[in-house]
Amino acid sequence: MKWHLLPLSEITQLLNTTPSGLDAITASERLIEHGKNQIEDSKKRSVLQMILSQLTDFMILILIAAAIISGIVGDLTDTIIILTIIILNAVVGFIQEYRAEKAMEALKKMAANLARILRKGDMMDIPASDLVPGDVVMLEAGNIIPADIRFFETYQIKVDESALTGESNNVEKSTDELPEGNYALGDQTNMGYKGTHITNGRALAYVVATGMETELGLIAKMIQTDETSTPLQKRLAAFGKRLSVGILIICTIIFFIGWLRGEPILLMLITSISLAVAAIPEAMPALVTIALAFGAKRLVKSNALIRKLPAVETLGSVTFICSDKTGTLTLNKMTVQEVYETADKKFNTVFAGRDALVMAMALNNDVSKDKNGIWLGDSTEVALVQYAFDKNLERTNLELEFPRIAELPFDSTRKCMTTLHETENGIIAITKGAVDVLLNKLTDNQKSLIPQFELEVNEMAKKGYRVLGYAMKTLPSIPEKLIADEVESSLTLIGFAGMIDPPREEAKQAVTECKQAGIIPVMITGDHKLTAEAIAKHLGIITSEEDLIVTGSELAALTVKQFQDIVEKVKVYARVNPEQKLEIINALQNKNQFVAMTGDGVNDAPALKNADIGIAMGINGTEVSKEASHMILLDDNFATIVIAVRHGRRIFDNILKFIKYTMTSNSGEIWVIFLAPFLLLPVPLLAVHILWINLVTDGLPGLALASEPSEPNIMNRPPRDPKQNIFAGGMAIHILWVGLLMGVVTLGMQAWAIHSDNTQWQTMAFTVLCFSQLGHVMAIRSERESIFKIGVFTNKPLLAALVLTVALQMMIIYTPFFNDIFKTEPLSLNELLLTLAVSSIVFWAVEIEKWIKNRKR
Ligand code: ATP
Repeated sequence: MKWHLLPLSEITQLLNTTPSGLDAITASERLIEHGKNQIEDSKKRSVLQMILSQLTDFMILILIAAAIISGIVGDLTDTIIILTIIILNAVVGFIQEYRAEKAMEALKKMAANLARILRKGDMMDIPASDLVPGDVVMLEAGNIIPADIRFFETYQIKVDESALTGESNNVEKSTDELPEGNYALGDQTNMGYKGTHITNGRALAYVVATGMETELGLIAKMIQTDETSTPLQKRLAAFGKRLSVGILIICTIIFFIGWLRGEPILLMLITSISLAVAAIPEAMPALVTIALAFGAKRLVKSNALIRKLPAVETLGSVTFICSDKTGTLTLNKMTVQEVYETADKKFNTVFAGRDALVMAMALNNDVSKDKNGIWLGDSTEVALVQYAFDKNLERTNLELEFPRIAELPFDSTRKCMTTLHETENGIIAITKGAVDVLLNKLTDNQKSLIPQFELEVNEMAKKGYRVLGYAMKTLPSIPEKLIADEVESSLTLIGFAGMIDPPREEAKQAVTECKQAGIIPVMITGDHKLTAEAIAKHLGIITSEEDLIVTGSELAALTVKQFQDIVEKVKVYARVNPEQKLEIINALQNKNQFVAMTGDGVNDAPALKNADIGIAMGINGTEVSKEASHMILLDDNFATIVIAVRHGRRIFDNILKFIKYTMTSNSGEIWVIFLAPFLLLPVPLLAVHILWINLVTDGLPGLALASEPSEPNIMNRPPRDPKQNIFAGGMAIHILWVGLLMGVVTLGMQAWAIHSDNTQWQTMAFTVLCFSQLGHVMAIRSERESIFKIGVFTNKPLLAALVLTVALQMMIIYTPFFNDIFKTEPLSLNELLLTLAVSSIVFWAVEIEKWIKNRKR
């Protein structure tokens, strides 16, 4: 349908709608007819595909083949057991992956966009996915256009369509139909397309197409991008490949040595392949995803909504947190504290003798009242309207008396906004904005008074007040084209108001915590330098003479090199434009800093994208900023960032512990099988034992490590270097020596048992290896502290996993059914106690390792 060519009357007819919107019943009928307004994900895998992908790993396929061959040639029970364990493994893997996917889906749903619509004249917010053709949407700067639309009312509307057309210019939109002709999407100036966003103005529009019927839907396949893996996953995947080669070589050697020693060839084949399956950490990247996804799920409880999974991992590396002031470090609850009026009272006559300053406060703003009489809108404006209201000047009535006929909406680069009103004495323009900006736009008459105005403003700003000025002028008629530089010039300042926005008390504590954790908090604000300074001092962001404050214009005057030289010392940026945030990020990143940056407006989007972690505001943020972010603060609170960093560090620590545990266990298994022939011992473990250890002993406690509480020193240590190799810092050595120790105690047990003619030697070796791993997991719960210091009972899921693993091992040792399957034999009490004592050696050794390391520190 060529919606852009049709007059509006025809559009309403075709869509069977009105400018006040559809009714609820029609809307729900259309939702059934047209389906949800969402782009279908073609990459989504079905449950069956997910299960199959668990089984189609190359090594698993070889193991299945070998097991089947051995079943045909010899022992069928073995084959069945091996296949059962492989399937169990796949099921466990699938359940984890499925739950992680669900967790991610739930997160995505929480971050879903809302659309503001009219239903029979009532304004309401609904999930954008519920929009139907014919709906009337209300749009403003910062909104992502939720469906394909045709505009029917526009105020200075501009749309960034680069997401769709690749053109980076903002396109101005209007409402009239276009003359007959062929138009590219970018030239259809009365249409808006799903996925593009509004950079300026306000508008009303009809939804003409939704979901896969939109232009975005048509090209959806082209733009669907792969979920990017996290840096850790990439590194693990690359490392895993190299490791697999090593393990395969070792397993081949094991196979040949066994063969040469006269072991049955099939036994050796299955044992060595099982060992390879167990030891190759092919599931590691997936398990990291799971840990991150669950971490993200928990972060929501602390009001941090993760949009991009890698953020969970990288949170722990943040060295700079650059935060907006208003709403994040302060409460965003403004109240006017002081008012200053200039001597110029000529505009009072325009308002029939009423005070022009208070009239301007009532008229120049975009707040509205909800059903309960509560003001809705920007808190700065609410404070000003409330002030006028308290002086008995009510906006709604005054709007009727002095109707607004045009406007130049606020933007944070201009730092002001203007409304034009009709009065009996002609048209007046009221401009409100940052006073220092207004001072540059005054008539010659007032220029000599500027120093005095500045003095007054500074007095207020030093108290931490946000100061907004009002200036006016009369116009002979409405200009045909509203140009900000023309309308907002030759103004007369009539006064200004100082508002307090109290700092968040919890932010103060969070700033202290940041500093202890080696993270530098930086305030970025559009506000006045003195206002910013007062608040930064109160919060502890500025504490010494060395902490610098830089304004936007000072920043603009610096060369890149000059800025880089000081960037690490700047703690406050005042009167900056959102565009300058990008410069700040670049300079910090060039200094190898890892930057988290907050933002709420449309213009913040590039900075949010480029920051190492871009953080959008859940309450006051625009959709565009949310879309560009890695994480959303559901409570807009600075303290939440610090809590998220703490969680991020814990999650990463636990992933490292998990890797350490699994790799050490694998290394133990390899050492056992590899060393046995050199010690002239028979093959210590059967394939089923290896696979069992891999499934149960490695699996259960390993996962429970994710529940480990944070280390006591977690916020007293410097941020983790994101480039640092995770195996550095002693991990690789730990994996090798503890694995070797596991091998030695297991083989020691085996040798001793064989030496004393104990027929249970295999059961004993199997149990020692299993229990050694359990001892190991307890000892690595803390990187530094002794388990007795952090408390044996502080990770309940891990304890439960240990109890369960021990119970399962007992079941294998003591029930005749499993004795047959696993070729085990019941141990006497003494033998069991002996295996326990021998297994505990690994636990004590790792505890001693920590103790020695601590003494060295
Ligand atoms: P911060 O940057 O501290 O988070 P902010 O996001 O409110 O604060 P901007 O919205 O960029 O900052 O505002 C910058 C300046 O513009 C403010 O300091 C104020 O002087 C002026 N200003 C803010 N809101 C309005 C408004 N609604 N009308 C006119 N001027 C405004």
